Amino acid sequence: MASMNTKVCIVGAGVAGLKTAHTLLNDPKSKFKAEDVLILEAQDRIGGRVLTDKTSSKLGYSYDIGGAWFHDCLSNTVLQESIDSGLFVVQKDGYFDDKDITVYDKDFNNQPVPVTDLKLNRVKEELEKFIEVYYHEDLSRKDMSLLEITDVYIKRYGDRLTSEQKKYLKKMIRYFELWDGFSADKISARYSLNDHEGRNLYNLKGYSFLLDELLRKIPASQIRTNTKVNTIVRNNKHNETKLRVETDKGIVYCDYLVVTVPLSILKLPSSHPYGISWEPSLPASITEALDATCFAALGKVIFEFNDVWWDKDVEQILHLPEETGSVELSAVLNQPPQKLIYPYLLVNYEALHKKDNKKTAQGGSFVLLTQAPLTQYLEENPDKAWDYFKASFKSFVQPGRTISEPINVITTKWTTNPYIRGSYSGVEVNGSYEDMVAQLSGEIEGLGLGYSTVRFAGEHATAVGSGCIHGAYTSGEREAAWILNHYNSLKWTL
Ligand SMILES: Cc1cc2nc3c(=O)[nH]c(=O)nc-3n(C[C@H](O)[C@H](O)[C@H](O)COP(=O)(O)OP(=O)(O)OC[C@H]3O[C@@H](n4cnc5c(N)ncnc54)[C@H](O)[C@@H]3O)c2cc1C
Repeated sequence: MASMNTKVCIVGAGVAGLKTAHTLLNDPKSKFKAEDVLILEAQDRIGGRVLTDKTSSKLGYSYDIGGAWFHDCLSNTVLQESIDSGLFVVQKDGYFDDKDITVYDKDFNNQPVPVTDLKLNRVKEELEKFIEVYYHEDLSRKDMSLLEITDVYIKRYGDRLTSEQKKYLKKMIRYFELWDGFSADKISARYSLNDHEGRNLYNLKGYSFLLDELLRKIPASQIRTNTKVNTIVRNNKHNETKLRVETDKGIVYCDYLVVTVPLSILKLPSSHPYGISWEPSLPASITEALDATCFAALGKVIFEFNDVWWDKDVEQILHLPEETGSVELSAVLNQPPQKLIYPYLLVNYEALHKKDNKKTAQGGSFVLLTQAPLTQYLEENPDKAWDYFKASFKSFVQPGRTISEPINVITTKWTTNPYIRGSYSGVEVNGSYEDMVAQLSGEIEGLGLGYSTVRFAGEHATAVGSGCIHGAYTSGEREAAWILNHYNSLKWTL
């Protein structure tokens, strides 16, 4: 590909990029032909942060290494469309693993924490309400970390709490780390409350079904993998009417450009080997909005065993951290922490998969969700994962059973992947999110690049389903609709 022309160029073949192309090529209003739409993907595979690993398991399982749940089930477009088209049957292909999570802590000596007796969930709910009201009452209140606001709550209402409630609330609230993907000393209290629209449905079918469905209607010739975009020239001096996209394989001239690379790539300086150089530079309004956000690092460690020594029916376990003392939770780890100072969420594949018969071998597996900075450490040192976690497994080994050595350990590699560099967008203390969405989504006139043929899509460029697969999907659909509208109106005036 020395140099080529196309009408729409899409950077990134994740869900957002694929959905953009899919809509452009299949919408009944579309006048685009296959050759008018081209996707450029830097990696050698399609799917971005959606990846169903069907080969690493020694038990015959498939694992979603990236997104695995349908979140916001009341409003999740991907779920609804998949159900409507018969591709996804909830009773067969999904599992609502939203049952109360079983909580373990080293203190409780092989027994679950008596969350109900201690009324911990009620107190946690009250803390969440407190956070909401705290910022609602006075918008000018300064932001602080989730840990700090927990202290504010305990200080203010401590006389109504038992000593156990005070102690375990500070640990329980760190559950949010396994949503936000980084440690609670950095999580912005102001943005900490996730306003979920409905339950969470675990996708047993594997998200590759979504990629397959989108790819069915995008000709393979229109996706160039191993093609890294280096420079985007918006005021193209060589050909005034076209945008110019410079890749390591050649130059693409196009009328419309949809940039769906992860937020982590957009945040890199243009001088960075994996950054994108913009000519002219992106306006400060956009770069400042990007700087106000962060890119989290949710990770997964999957352990496979020859025998199931834990409760095969437990759906999820939240293992609480040990007391951290003065340790700075978000500091880069050069060695595994001496104690379990980060909580983890264990998702038990045995409970989730008990109704399907894909399993071909004896044994069983579970996945642990981890947060930054632990994720980075484990993704760089996967051989250290077992030693780090195994002591904590004593909390939930079944009576009379012994913890066996794993036969397989699979860790995610999102933070070490130079084209992804983490998991999804988030907000640290004193950061903000709305401005980035406003700048990138093109939904507010006059913001971002203005009424421009350079568009943005991706999980970070939407207020609906941000961070999620359905957010990426709807943002791709939105940008395709904008382009179709613009293109069709141009044709009309000619
Ligand atoms: C561990 C983990 C767990 C998750 N769990 C869930 C979940 O349960 N449910 C859920 O809904 N979501 C989940 N997510 C989030 C979800 O996977 C993402 O929000 C979504 O897949 C993002 O899609 P996207 O198209 O915006 O970006 P991506 O999928 O990242 O696509 C962007 C593409 O751009 C490419 N690219 C980067 N730089 C360049 C360049 N210079 N030139 C060309 N191409 C480039 C990348 O290689 C990538 O393929 C999870 C993510 C992770 C990592």
